[in-house]
Amino acid sequence: MAKLFKSKTIRSGGNAKTIKGDKFGEYETAIMYLAPAKQALMGNVCPMAETAGCEMGCLSKAGRAGMFSSIVEARIAKTQRYFSNRAAFMADLVKDIEAFVRYCNRKGVKPAVRLNGTSDIQWEVAHPCQRDAPKGHFSYPVAYLHASIFEAFPEVQFYDYTKVYKRAYRKLPANYSLTLSYSEASPAYAAAVIKTACETGINMAVVYRSKAIRDNMLSSGDAFGDASNGVVSTTRVIRPVIDGDETDMRFTDPQGVIVGLYAKGPAKKDTSGFVID
Ligand code: SF4
Repeated sequence: MAKLFKSKTIRSGGNAKTIKGDKFGEYETAIMYLAPAKQALMGNVCPMAETAGCEMGCLSKAGRAGMFSSIVEARIAKTQRYFSNRAAFMADLVKDIEAFVRYCNRKGVKPAVRLNGTSDIQWEVAHPCQRDAPKGHFSYPVAYLHASIFEAFPEVQFYDYTKVYKRAYRKLPANYSLTLSYSEASPAYAAAVIKTACETGINMAVVYRSKAIRDNMLSSGDAFGDASNGVVSTTRVIRPVIDGDETDMRFTDPQGVIVGLYAKGPAKKDTSGFVID
């Protein structure tokens, strides 16, 4: 059985994945799971959840968290620490990512981290952290203040899905990849996401009701050859659709595509407009 990486803030399933092509190689992802939206009752970690209507179909309710209240309670406690003692939370996160980097080095794989497994925090803004200079560095063990966790860990590839579409207009760090998450729960939100995708070229993830529907949307390889390919129902966006379930490592996707996913768990029954028929 694959060895798991577990820490206070992030965990991985122990499965390193080889990405097709020499450009990427073998990565393992550690994910942080917080209590989504306002579940921790101290603030909102998903500012667009209400507008995008995604709370009901939220992945946090699928799988293990849906079955064990102890998991939900642990996520709530973690999120409350995020709100009540940000400095201590960021210090834990730095320690845990350092441990994950060491774990990946021992395994001979590259580290990838998704901080927003079940949240939508804008980590690139107002989340400074301290990290010690590495052993061997002339200033070891002096701690440096970094503007963000991405800056503190240039050796790690970070990536997330987001519904906070204004993030797409920011100049994000080179080691952070964002994919916009589409929803038709609110026509205003759908229009704003599409406008953002068109203006910035950022990839857009769309969750289809079933694998069959998603597979039907997969591009023939010609972005504009077949007008039925890549059209998101209420929009005029025509883009190639790629199979987003083949790998979760969104930073390896080509740019300017629709990342086609199909609904799993409770999301299959979603009627909010998040899941597209
Ligand atoms: S923004 Fe993401 S994590 Fe937050 S409620 Fe919506 S689907 Fe869940």
